[in-house]
Amino acid sequence: MKLVLATRNVHKIAELSAMLSDLDVEILSFRDFPDLPEVVEDGETLEDNAIKKAREISLATGLPALADDTGLEVAALGGAPGVISARYAGEVCSYEDNNRKLLHELEGVPDEKRGAAFRCVVALATPSGEVTTVEGRTDGVILREPRGDTGFGYDPIFLPNGQTLSYAEMSRDEKNALSHRGRALEKARELITQAT
Ligand code: IMP
Repeated sequence: MKLVLATRNVHKIAELSAMLSDLDVEILSFRDFPDLPEVVEDGETLEDNAIKKAREISLATGLPALADDTGLEVAALGGAPGVISARYAGEVCSYEDNNRKLLHELEGVPDEKRGAAFRCVVALATPSGEVTTVEGRTDGVILREPRGDTGFGYDPIFLPNGQTLSYAEMSRDEKNALSHRGRALEKARELITQAT
């Protein structure tokens, strides 16, 4: 009844742990396995990367592992930054660098053309080598300037459709209830119960 989260991102760990807290599963992470290998995210798709992370961490720990790979797809930029969302502003860059670059790329783009979607692929791998993926998606728009200071990544510049608060102005539970990750996890719950 154990599940390892295949991520070093403490924000993702916090969100995923909160969403899984009602399951009868002990949630573990790199904090419990300090020697976990660093997984290189060199896949061409979110799915490739999620599967790779879940597989490698499940093999390394001998336990079921859950990985998430997320991309922000901006329509006016032909779907960029997409799978390179983490490295949009360069190999070594901060969340602020990425947000600044995205706002710069969208300078002068009118509100009705600022549509974007967060896509999250969650992969669940078992030590026997089985992997299953599910996907969650939330549509919204890219704001003209950052709003709010909760969350992480592109949260301050993403306004989900039909909402008045950006992801970074929401509490964790509010974000989880409608986020790409929340929706993917909702689909993964049954799989997790079967795998653990
Ligand atoms: P990855 O899934 O760790 O590869 O993350 C891709 C990029 O998207 C990183 O820059 C993350 O900060 C960003 N990202 C992932 N999930 C979220 C989210 O829930 N909100 C805002 N940004 C996110």
